[in-house]
Amino acid sequence: MKIFCVGRNYRDHIKELGGETSEEFVFFMKPETALLQRNRPFYIPPWTNDLQYETELVLKICKNGKYIQEKFAPNYYNEIGIGIDFTARDLQNQLISRGLPWEKCKGFDFSAPIGQFLPKKQLDLEKGINFSLKINDELRQSGNSRDMIHSFDKIISEISKFITLKIGDLIYTGTPAGVEKVQIGDRLEASIENQPLLSVAIK
Ligand code: MG
Repeated sequence: MKIFCVGRNYRDHIKELGGETSEEFVFFMKPETALLQRNRPFYIPPWTNDLQYETELVLKICKNGKYIQEKFAPNYYNEIGIGIDFTARDLQNQLISRGLPWEKCKGFDFSAPIGQFLPKKQLDLEKGINFSLKINDELRQSGNSRDMIHSFDKIISEISKFITLKIGDLIYTGTPAGVEKVQIGDRLEASIENQPLLSVAIK
């Protein structure tokens, strides 16, 4: 399976990182070894001093496809979950300034915690899906899928122009504002519509 991540998909997050808002569609990938499942703890790697969380809605692909048109994209995912795109921000800033690829800062082992999935039909996509992150019971991030620059259907269409989507692939759809550094001892809890679906202890 493959893990795709959409970058720069919420304007308030682009602003907090000091980037320019552009409508350009950006994605990158993490390897399968990035997955962190079953609420296992996350150990901060020794080579970063600024490990940040990015809470994101995650689509699970249920049908193989290439060059998927937006109008057919809803047929290609039937579950939505919540995950964290862990990012070594210090390393990412160094790589960006030198024009180098992001694998070291984004694709490292266990950089993609994933929680329980909900059937798409349980959620109101028209109204938008609310999601949030609490750290040590304090609200740190909240977003709604309505505020995405690129919709779920657009994301599926764009990625599949370049890379064939296969059953079981995951797509992290971008993070809203509120990203910050985690500390050893933090307990992260991510929810969809106030239903906790993922928890990660930072070690
Ligand atoms: Mg992200």
